[in-house]
Amino acid sequence: MLSDSCACCGQSGTDVPVSAIDRYGLPLDTVLCSGCGTLRANPYPDDDGLADFYTHHYQQMYARSDDRVAYFAKQRGYGQRVLEAVRSWLPEGAFVFEAGCGAGGALDVLRDGGYQVSGCDYSQELVDHGRTQGLSLHWGPPLAALESLPAPSLIYMHHVFEHVRDPLRQLEGLRDALAPGGKVLIIVPDVSRISEFPFPAGDLRLFLHIAHRFNFSLAGFRMLAARAGLEVESLQQRDANQSPEFWAVLTRRQGPVSAPDDLKAGRAMLDYLRRTERRWRMHLTRGQLLVLRQRIRSKLQRLLGRHDKPSVTTPTDAS
Ligand SMILES: [Zn+2]
Repeated sequence: MLSDSCACCGQSGTDVPVSAIDRYGLPLDTVLCSGCGTLRANPYPDDDGLADFYTHHYQQMYARSDDRVAYFAKQRGYGQRVLEAVRSWLPEGAFVFEAGCGAGGALDVLRDGGYQVSGCDYSQELVDHGRTQGLSLHWGPPLAALESLPAPSLIYMHHVFEHVRDPLRQLEGLRDALAPGGKVLIIVPDVSRISEFPFPAGDLRLFLHIAHRFNFSLAGFRMLAARAGLEVESLQQRDANQSPEFWAVLTRRQGPVSAPDDLKAGRAMLDYLRRTERRWRMHLTRGQLLVLRQRIRSKLQRLLGRHDKPSVTTPTDAS
């Protein structure tokens, strides 16, 4: 286990402990950086420990379906969203790389969209499955895989970047691997709006577990990108399967990128999480009320003899 300072702001503040357990009740220390408001698990396993975790334990511990066909189809769902987000600017036939691609279902959509694709993952089983679909997938970390590949015009990560132990080093490596004019697209959970959605309905603990080292604040993410020499071209807060996430498009800039300085971000995040916890205990977060409304509606529909599927689903990919 290694301890370090906040990767986003370089520790402009101090760490505030917010939890000593994760969503499974397992011991996991989570701290909030009072500088930028980003949450991180600290201390955290070193690189060898993480490689072992993702190779041997992660897919099983998080009850990933053994149904490879269904998993691949589900990945195609977010692949469609990625394709829609990039096709207005990504040149036809460009090379696209996904870091943490699982079986490559999303890459399959981009390939159908006319792009050249490749990706990497730590799960040998998923990589093998993707290869049976004719995809060029690599086992291991992205920077190693990219060494032997052409420079991508797009590198993207879907609910992966929050897993990375050292996101600054990762972003610097990805920046250097990009083709000229290339961009990085990062999609991560948005802890700043947990009270507003049916999942996690204000229950912060559902966002805390060993696989997610970071829960980035928007301010912290901007600081991190700047430190890595990347400019935030866009940062959108979006809704993913009734759960909050944000999408960031980053571009490489020659010369220094000025780091935004938001000294109130840490305080604002801590205040938000405390306020949310108080409301959650009273069952009064907007997310909880949405869940309640959906449950009442589906009960009424059953009583009235309609057999619609309940509209409340717990997102299984909010991992
Ligand atoms: Zn920070």
